Amino acid sequence: MLQFIVQVALDTPLDFYFDYRWVGESADSKAPVRGQLARVPFGQREVVGLVMAVKESTDVPSGKLRDVIAIQEHITPLTEDWLDLCAFAAGYYQRPLGEVALPCLPKNLRVSKPAALVRAFKALDKELPAHSPVMVNKPALHEAQCKAAEAIVNAQGFAPILLHGVTGSGKTEVYLQATEQFLAHTHDAQVMILVPEINLTPQLESSIRSRFPNMAVATLHSGLAEGERMRNWLAAHTGRARIVLGTRLAVLASIPKLSLIIIDEEHDPSYKQQEGLRYSARDLAVWRARQLNIPVVLGSATPSVESWQHGQSGRYQRLELRERAVKDAVLPAVRLIDTEKERPQDGFTAPLINAVKLRLERGEQSLLFLNRRGYAPVLVCDSCGWLSNCMRCTSFMVLHKPERRLRCHHCSLELPIPRSCPTCGNTDLQPLGRGTQRIEEGLQQRFPDARILRIDADSTRLKGSAQAALDSVHRGEVDILIGTQMVAKGHDFQGLTLVGIVNPDTALFSHDYRASERLFAQLMQVGGRAGRTAQKEGGSASEVLIQTRYPQHPLYAAVVAHDYDRFAAALLEERRYAALPPFMYQSLLRAEARSLEGALDFLHQAASLLQCPHIVINEPIPMTVTRVANVERAQLLVESASRPALQSFLKTWMPELRAIKTSVKWQLEVDPVSI
Ligand code: ADP
Ligand code: ZN
Ligand code: ZN
Repeated sequence: MLQFIVQVALDTPLDFYFDYRWVGESADSKAPVRGQLARVPFGQREVVGLVMAVKESTDVPSGKLRDVIAIQEHITPLTEDWLDLCAFAAGYYQRPLGEVALPCLPKNLRVSKPAALVRAFKALDKELPAHSPVMVNKPALHEAQCKAAEAIVNAQGFAPILLHGVTGSGKTEVYLQATEQFLAHTHDAQVMILVPEINLTPQLESSIRSRFPNMAVATLHSGLAEGERMRNWLAAHTGRARIVLGTRLAVLASIPKLSLIIIDEEHDPSYKQQEGLRYSARDLAVWRARQLNIPVVLGSATPSVESWQHGQSGRYQRLELRERAVKDAVLPAVRLIDTEKERPQDGFTAPLINAVKLRLERGEQSLLFLNRRGYAPVLVCDSCGWLSNCMRCTSFMVLHKPERRLRCHHCSLELPIPRSCPTCGNTDLQPLGRGTQRIEEGLQQRFPDARILRIDADSTRLKGSAQAALDSVHRGEVDILIGTQMVAKGHDFQGLTLVGIVNPDTALFSHDYRASERLFAQLMQVGGRAGRTAQKEGGSASEVLIQTRYPQHPLYAAVVAHDYDRFAAALLEERRYAALPPFMYQSLLRAEARSLEGALDFLHQAASLLQCPHIVINEPIPMTVTRVANVERAQLLVESASRPALQSFLKTWMPELRAIKTSVKWQLEVDPVSI
């Protein structure tokens, strides 16, 4: 009888593998191999793990050794490349491999119901065999696009390419034509295209599908139903899908013949996972390209400073698209409205209102951008000074007028709006500040006949509603669109000639050093929604109006001049001077406890464990929003100018942290993006 010891990685916080005995059922049973999935007993449960090694013997006493229940034989084993990727991510982000690798697999595969798998395979086989990479409706590329596509196609081996193209310069067309050539060149090559948000995926997905009518495209994002996710994951894993389009989680998909990686809007914060394994999909994608020795394209109108820095130093090849692709479409004129001179009423200055009015008269669309949802960020009592504090968090409860609720955006607590002040009984409570709902109300009063639509996280809670709303904008059924960052990115709104930025100033003075980089990118992106077609006869020139108290601020000057390069140069100088990323590498240890003291005590203990040259261990401090849902939160920042030094420090530090006996919940984040 064939018998082996199988070493399995499981989805647990324990940083080691588990040994099981595998016994072949018959003489011709095939021995398990590395990369297969195994169903095994774990405590009282059955779980699916990943086979890491198959060996002859184990230190586990035979009385304690348990048997593998079954090996998943329906799918080909995961490749060494994929296992390496998971091992790298696990090592770099200081997590056990099982915790990284297993959540990457579709749930249906992990619960390992053979019936579900068989169904998924049947569904796959019904799809087109999909072998023709021929693209239809191909526009002739402009010269700069041509150069960019050629550079991508001719790249040899690992080649990171920064495609810096202004909004509307036709980056997508470059991606598609480069993709076509890759697919045509090698009969089984696969291409991965990463996009930041789910709400951007359908638009790109449908254009990819219509451009490649005979090619299987698999999408991967968190909005998929389990059955779909399983099918699409399998399509990628089996090589049937030649194009894999997905959000950040797709970077960890199994794509055995991956030959080209494209990261659209590479600067976008949503490439960073903010819970669980806090990885950067952009960084992992670049690592994956290096491991596979293939090109990776990072596209953006406003690259992250990290990527820009690599472009400057020559580590990334830089390609530029400086003009808009559509004939006669030009970048919108950006104007600053000084709110010290033009006093806003209900949040709007006269020039902004006049500009909207003009668009309404001409049947054109306007977009008003405000990155704050709700009606007002806080409710106040003018007679006693009461504020709508959340009782569970160090934050205010936001007034949501249509829903008639106070809502905490941190802990989701909801309360009815009080009729009178809870402290003094005053019945005249006032909303302070403005969110998208209040902007919407103000516009409705001014323009009662206009078709106004608000798109934010509140208006698009139902599945599919965001897409339905965006579709109605595309069909021209909306005159004025009000939105948060949800509408800022990627969308190709054809009838839009005005973008109004209602209140961007708060980000200038944020405690978060990345806030200005994000604001700049947001303004360029949202401004870039205007003027995507040529100016119509008798129509308006496209423009962006920014209401600000600080029209002299260099950030706004750079936005007015559409001068990313100048902004990036200044930002890099600032970061270098202040010893911040990308000149410094950071990790953040976060602690959560019932009391702030408890959290801080733990961090002080953590800070005193190790001394290391080249490593700066900062003072533990409370987080900006210290209490969330009655949990107190504090953090400890560890920094180094050398990434390897920081990594080797973390490797020694982690086991010591794990050995601390504490009730404090803690987690380590490598390369945090908000501090
Ligand atoms: P970006 O991703 O750089 O913001 P898009 O790829 O969305 O820009 O392109 C903007 C518009 O230009 C789209 O409507 C697209 O169809 C069009 N376009 C792109 N390339 C060309 C081209 N070579 N000729 C004509 N139109 C083009
Ligand atoms: Zn009061
Ligand atoms: Zn709260």
